Amino acid sequence: SRDTTQTLHVSARVAPLGDRLLLALVEDRTHQIRIDEVRRDFVANVSHELKTPVGALMLLAEAVQDASDDPEAVQRFAARMQREGTRLSRLVEEIIDLSRLQYDDPVDSPEPVEIDNVVAAAIDRCRVDAENRHVRLTAGGTADLQVLGNEKQLVIAVGNLVENAVSYSPEGSKVAVGVGRREDLVEISVTDQGYGIAETELDRIFERFYRVDPARSRETGGTGLGLSIVKHIAASHGGDVNVWSVQGAGSTFTLRLPLHPYRPGQPPGVVSHA
Ligand code: ADP
Repeated sequence: SRDTTQTLHVSARVAPLGDRLLLALVEDRTHQIRIDEVRRDFVANVSHELKTPVGALMLLAEAVQDASDDPEAVQRFAARMQREGTRLSRLVEEIIDLSRLQYDDPVDSPEPVEIDNVVAAAIDRCRVDAENRHVRLTAGGTADLQVLGNEKQLVIAVGNLVENAVSYSPEGSKVAVGVGRREDLVEISVTDQGYGIAETELDRIFERFYRVDPARSRETGGTGLGLSIVKHIAASHGGDVNVWSVQGAGSTFTLRLPLHPYRPGQPPGVVSHA
């Protein structure tokens, strides 16, 4: 277009074809170069992020050795080693998920998925955390809506939103998951009464490894990858994820996905839950 500048990377090969003709093969390499860039950045970030828990584990192992005649200290260090180990294994799992998803390719062999099942499984995943934090987790009634995609990935996406809502909320608050339909889209919203997010941070929280408050995120076992995974899962299902937040009051994250065409005989009920 006229008002945007874009660099086009092409490679060309020219081969003679008879006496007078030349065959030129021109290949657009822009997409490949972008993929290489994303991969390079990702590897650099990953190496940096892995060094923190590994470094902590090495120091703790040393501390355990030094404290061998103080059983209480050994217990304390061992508990911290366990926490760092858990964080490390979660980080590795999420890095693997993300490396599969980051090019936003459409889902392989998509299948009809019941959104109610996705929401129920996502809530189940977070129930223990919510109980520990005395956060009341509620879900709207059944909406009987379907999307085409990968159920496991959708559970991860909704689960990450619910997990964040629980983690970034004060004890005793409420988290509500609602499902609704807006034209050809299914909307799954997760609303908390938590700390909220400043307007200047709203764009950045979907970036890989970005955390508004790294200390708090570390405390909750966060990796900074959760929302970027949600964003990629949304994109590979042809949808998106948005956030609305008031600092100090709470946030609503909304995942929108294209609705799978209705099965015959199904009522087109519009269901919305607070
Ligand atoms: P993390 O593993 O740190 O939770 P995410 O990618 O899931 O990483 O989220 C990125 C950052 O966005 C978090 O560190 C947190 O600062 C902020 N955030 C995400 N969800 C919420 C929420 N519901 N309320 C307040 N802040 C949030």
